[in-house]
Amino acid sequence: MTARIIDGKLLAAQIREQVSSDVQALKAMNRSVRLAAILVGSSPAARVYADNQARTFAQAGVEYELHELADQITQAELDAVLATLAKDPGVTGIMVHLPLPPHINTQQTQYHIDILKDVEGVNPANIGNVLYGHPIIAPCTALAAVALIDTTGVPLQGAEVTVVGASRIAGRPAALLLTERGATVTVCHIHTRDLVRHTQRADILVVAVGKPGLIQPRHVSPGAVVIDIGINRVTATDATGKSATKTVGDVDFQAVSETASWITPVPGGVGPVTVAMLLKNTVRAARLVHGLDQPF
Ligand code: NAP
Repeated sequence: MTARIIDGKLLAAQIREQVSSDVQALKAMNRSVRLAAILVGSSPAARVYADNQARTFAQAGVEYELHELADQITQAELDAVLATLAKDPGVTGIMVHLPLPPHINTQQTQYHIDILKDVEGVNPANIGNVLYGHPIIAPCTALAAVALIDTTGVPLQGAEVTVVGASRIAGRPAALLLTERGATVTVCHIHTRDLVRHTQRADILVVAVGKPGLIQPRHVSPGAVVIDIGINRVTATDATGKSATKTVGDVDFQAVSETASWITPVPGGVGPVTVAMLLKNTVRAARLVHGLDQPF
């Protein structure tokens, strides 16, 4: 069997088109859509990422302000910045770039992001609402994984799903959203004794670990849907002996394509849809802040 590719770029383009039209509709009602992003420290890589993100939001018509804060900022000062942004009626969305410096507690920081403005869905209260089955704003990567499965037409209700990776931001929220959709979900992590036993019985396999080549054909049941959330930079040598870095997922894409029925590529799968979901959440946050949507 040769798997069909789940085209993340296509789905992302469709979501972004809808977002742009939703943003225009809000502007026509004189309602702002303005994201405040916080960047602590001055790493060049983080700066490049923030600049790219600013362009992505501008393309969707979203106003974007970057708050660059010194590496030495204290937890109390950072929490105070977040409190000010929470009260600012002109700001409809807030996000904090990770990683934060070691002296800053990430979870405490996320706790101070206003729940209705939390476009990444990372405030523990927002993750908790996913558990209760009433998300106000859900984490973007988990939303992306579910949306990509939906494009295959494979029903989630009653499906056996195995999620490999149990992080608070990717694996666990994905497992909760999939449970809510009626799937029977198994969550695997570093202490899982026999990974193959759990992945082999999956109709749908979702992988979010950060280990290139972790998932091989022996892990995958013939005809399964495979969603690869992993993003890893690896150095590979080509036939001429030249080495170059490239981005790969956690799944051995070529080999597993012979076993799966559907598979997401990396890059071009979950990544672009995660960005599109961030934009979609930004519209949702603006509608919540303006009272056009209700949290429940
Ligand atoms: P993380 O916080 O490091 O979590 C990794 C999870 O994998 C942990 O639950 C860990 O178990 C588990 N794990 C580690 N080795 C394992 C093994 N051999 N077998 C089974 N489980 C294992 O990472 P993350 O933030 O979730 O990110 C995971 C990957 O997804 C990374 O490559 C990241 O870059 C990527 N990612 C992509 C997107 C996107 O938009 N496409 C978004 C977010 C993350 P323990 O909990 O027991 O340690």
